[in-house]
Amino acid sequence: MEKLFYEDTHILDFEAVVTDCQAVNDSFLIVLNRTAFFPEEGGQPADTGTLNGLAVRDVSIRKDIIYHHMDTPLEVGCKVTGHVDWDRRFDFMQQHSGEHIISGLLHKHYGFTNVGFHLGLAEVTLDFDGNIGMDALREIEAEANNIVWQNLSVKAYFPDRDSLQAMEYRSKIEIEGAVRIVEIPDVDVCACCAPHVKKTGEIGLIKITGVQSHRGGVRINILCGQRALKDYSIKQDSVNALSALLSAKPELVVEAVKKLQEDGLKQKETLNTLAGQLLQLQVASLPEPSVCPNPILFVELSNPIAIRNTVNELTGKYPGYCGIFNGNDASGYSFIIGSSTEDCRTLASRLREAFGAKGGGTPPMIQGNVQTTKEKLIAFLSNQHHPSNGWFALRL
Ligand SMILES: [Zn+2]
Repeated sequence: MEKLFYEDTHILDFEAVVTDCQAVNDSFLIVLNRTAFFPEEGGQPADTGTLNGLAVRDVSIRKDIIYHHMDTPLEVGCKVTGHVDWDRRFDFMQQHSGEHIISGLLHKHYGFTNVGFHLGLAEVTLDFDGNIGMDALREIEAEANNIVWQNLSVKAYFPDRDSLQAMEYRSKIEIEGAVRIVEIPDVDVCACCAPHVKKTGEIGLIKITGVQSHRGGVRINILCGQRALKDYSIKQDSVNALSALLSAKPELVVEAVKKLQEDGLKQKETLNTLAGQLLQLQVASLPEPSVCPNPILFVELSNPIAIRNTVNELTGKYPGYCGIFNGNDASGYSFIIGSSTEDCRTLASRLREAFGAKGGGTPPMIQGNVQTTKEKLIAFLSNQHHPSNGWFALRL
């Protein structure tokens, strides 16, 4: 079988003869005497396209025979015209050739080995056995793009056994059959079976978009060619929208967001102070312990630390249950209830039974949250008899 993608990776239209057609499940596996369709191999996904205008959905290889997966059978001996989907193939070649350049440079400068490569429809990841940060990767990225702009020729060939033995190249493993070498002169030499761009200029742009620790080394995300351009457009739209919202120049949006966050924190502090003061006023207006042994307060937007301190303060003064419900009917209430004499867990289990309240705690203090209305909570708490103190007194 003639592999046209090895003769020229830009052959998209070709003529061939059907040599085999096998029915497998719901599809037909077509074999041709020659093909420009690259099967899924070496980390690069399979091509798609058409044979006689009919869709080739997938392409696979087994024992060096390439199978074109189709919905319709083709007669053995008949001539076919094939067409490979160029957008898909070119996109994969841009990403894969870009990967070789980055891997080659990391090998050359740091001695790293590429130990994992994923080329998906949306994501390209490269795994290396060494650690490197984004600052150093920016230098690798700059050098990689220089190689793109130099428009170097990408060579692919099958060296004979002796030459291969003497060669230095990445992915050097003992394999059966001929080894195909993909070489970008002075940049990278690597064993690879996939189709690549003819000239590095076709890659257009190589952008490193992320790096994270991975199995003792790093995982790097890259985007090449049209994917990098699409990513730039998306990010530019985001930055422009932020720039308009923040009334800041695009290069100053980060500063503007930091200032917003600082302002937000200051406002939150002010709000917390005011909420604490409001809580103190509510506490000051509570009746005496003899009249109201179990004070329950309802507040909204109050400061959690002030709430906890106030409950502690109340339990020192009032003999029964002292509680604060913080929130509103729409989003529910968080609560803290304390007592210097009673086991608050009893009340927690009653709130759980009545409203499905979540939370718990220790005998002197419980906390949790409940999704119900203030009216229902008041009705419920007012009906909770207390063995020694009678009714709950509610401050509304
Ligand atoms: Zn490769």
